[in-house]
Amino acid sequence: MFGKRSEAVEAVQEFRAPVAEGLSNYIIVILDSCRWDTFVEACPKTLMKLGEVERRYSYASWTAPSHYNLLMGLMPHTSPQYVFASEYYKKDFLKFNERLGAEGVSFRSLVPRLYLPDYLRTTLGYVTRAMVSLPVLNSHTPLNSGFDSFRLMPDHNDMAAMVDAMTFLPDRPSFYLLNVGETHYPYALPSEPKNEWPRISGVHGVFKHLDDHVVGGKLVGEEEPRFFDQNQLDVLRARQVDAVRYLDGVFEKLFDTVPENTYITVTSDHGELFGEDGYFGHGPVFHEKVFEVPFVEGRIR
Ligand SMILES: [Zn+2]
Repeated sequence: MFGKRSEAVEAVQEFRAPVAEGLSNYIIVILDSCRWDTFVEACPKTLMKLGEVERRYSYASWTAPSHYNLLMGLMPHTSPQYVFASEYYKKDFLKFNERLGAEGVSFRSLVPRLYLPDYLRTTLGYVTRAMVSLPVLNSHTPLNSGFDSFRLMPDHNDMAAMVDAMTFLPDRPSFYLLNVGETHYPYALPSEPKNEWPRISGVHGVFKHLDDHVVGGKLVGEEEPRFFDQNQLDVLRARQVDAVRYLDGVFEKLFDTVPENTYITVTSDHGELFGEDGYFGHGPVFHEKVFEVPFVEGRIR
């Protein structure tokens, strides 16, 4: 812990931007692959304390482009009709004033980089940190820009370990991106032994590589698996619901951990298909259910 603290202090000394009074800590939590109706069925009471849960739509059907979009500051959208996209973006960005406790933040503020971590760090003086679960978001990807620290977690499904690793400074607001993997295939909780995870028959190494290999129910560069039957898909769907229920307890821990004056946004990077119209998973899938995501945000105290 001491090492982490030193690293944080060193990073902060690089800042030139003054910190405006009263800025909030800001945390975005992405429940990877959590589809809208999974969230509704799980009915996570602690999470719902943040505010009204909205059905929104992801800009992308896969992890990497969706996170890029989120880090541009564009949250999943409401799919409004009869509205110009540029007007929607402008309005969507104004919400950052409430999230950050700031004034004057607009879409224009992020020009020319158009990347939220850079803006938060260099203009507003935030300490910016990411902890991610999926290897496609590892720290060598271009997503790691404007972050003081960016960490691929050792286990893909342990949000509680992220909460344990969070630190906050008394004199600088913090921004955290948490990419949470319990809701990602195979929807395994940290306590579940790996040999009990559901398996696709005839396939090896699939769990190790996660998004590298499993995309939309097809395997890339390996033996073609047998597709799941609907009973297996129903079991998988129930596992994702259980994962959200479990995570609700981890959110309680998160809410107890963060300082006062912290704003939290919780959403997904995309949905997931469980057999609808012959699809499983996400990625190369064009289906409403892969774009529908839950969205809830607010202050917990
Ligand atoms: Zn994802």
